[in-house]
Amino acid sequence: MKACLLAIGSEMLTPERIDTNSLFATGRLNEIGYDVRLKAVVGDDLDDLARAFSWALEWADLIVATGGLGPTSDDLTRDAVARVLQLPFDVDEGVLERIRQRFERRGRPMPANNRRQAMVPRGAALLDNPGGTAPGLWLRSGTRIIVLLPGPPREMRPMLDAVVRDRLAPDADGRLFRRVVRLTGLAESEVDGRAEPLFIRWASRPSPIRTTILAVKGQTELHLAVRTGDAASAHAALDAAVGELQAIFGASIFSTDDRNLETVVGALLRERGLTIAVAESCTGGLLASRLTDVPGSSAYVDRGVVCYSNAAKVDMLGVPSELIERHGAVSEPVAVAMATGIRSRARTSIGVGVTGIAGPGGGSAEKPVGTVCICAVIGTAERVRTFQFVGEREMVKVQASQAALNLVRLLVLGEDVHEWTERR
Ligand code: ATP
Repeated sequence: MKACLLAIGSEMLTPERIDTNSLFATGRLNEIGYDVRLKAVVGDDLDDLARAFSWALEWADLIVATGGLGPTSDDLTRDAVARVLQLPFDVDEGVLERIRQRFERRGRPMPANNRRQAMVPRGAALLDNPGGTAPGLWLRSGTRIIVLLPGPPREMRPMLDAVVRDRLAPDADGRLFRRVVRLTGLAESEVDGRAEPLFIRWASRPSPIRTTILAVKGQTELHLAVRTGDAASAHAALDAAVGELQAIFGASIFSTDDRNLETVVGALLRERGLTIAVAESCTGGLLASRLTDVPGSSAYVDRGVVCYSNAAKVDMLGVPSELIERHGAVSEPVAVAMATGIRSRARTSIGVGVTGIAGPGGGSAEKPVGTVCICAVIGTAERVRTFQFVGEREMVKVQASQAALNLVRLLVLGEDVHEWTERR
């Protein structure tokens, strides 16, 4: 069944505010089998709102709109729906009384414009709002369902949960089951090219598995989704699909269960009883920050140092200055010296060194912006690679931290390190 989400409020058409209600609503509706096929942000203009509702009504089985239910003259959601469905308004005395009492409890009289919140299009059912004054509304137009909820997320979320539980779930036909497979070290186009035959086969199954591919911050995500009323068969189909991807991509897949790379690496270090220390230049502490984002990381993170200048690399890590002079600060020998230097000072199992050119300045023909040398050492094993990242300064830093985490993961797993081909 098709759902359309409308986020109502002119503030979300400015550079300052963004609609987040639709993310929450999409998650909840997917769980009970609705496909969110379109969402839109509409400003506080009666004609625009009426047009948006008319169009959504022609097309979607369910419309969930949030915002514009307040007492002020720019809260026009009710008026737009009433206009489109040609419904008169009734004043709901019960709602009016509850709003009056809410104000009384705060020792204030109810402002006259709050009366608007008790205006109910004829035939609409009221949805209780325990956290605010504006009740939600539930309407039907033929087979279409319209749900109007207040904008503040704190009020909207519990109300949507109640609507899903009490009104929508009982009628839903099957749930959407999802799995996210995350890969790193391969370009999105390469992942897409190699997995495409699977996508085509999965799409033609009796219960098709739909796939979406997404490149985000140094990784590629494959979102798999299957809709069915039978949870066991959905899980079996998704397990089999994930297995097929693993057979193609091997260790490039780092997660099939929603975990991010730092969490996967953390679990691996903890499981193997390993400790880690990192020496960072161009990532400026981002690698240590990501490692320590994981709860319980004190079990394996010993320290991280940011040694940005050449002097810091010499002073803090004992990198020989002639190595820097001979090869340059951004070079594999220096990355190795940083990794071994931090490991011997921290006495950890693993040492990591990251040195590179995040840009926009500092590049050369030989070492352009985005060149990053990363080394990870454990025992007598050592992996050092030079990566060439593309993108703005922040993206180079993110990709470098991602590549460093992945290098650690592959080193611990004893896997070979493939060339990094990510180009985003
Ligand atoms: P109220 O009775 O509080 O006025 P309302 O239904 O009129 O409720 P709005 O005035 O449209 O809601 O929005 C109130 C606030 O809720 C906004 O300033 C914004 O902070 C937040 N909000 C509204 N819509 C969204 C949205 N789609 N995503 C995230 N936040 C939102």
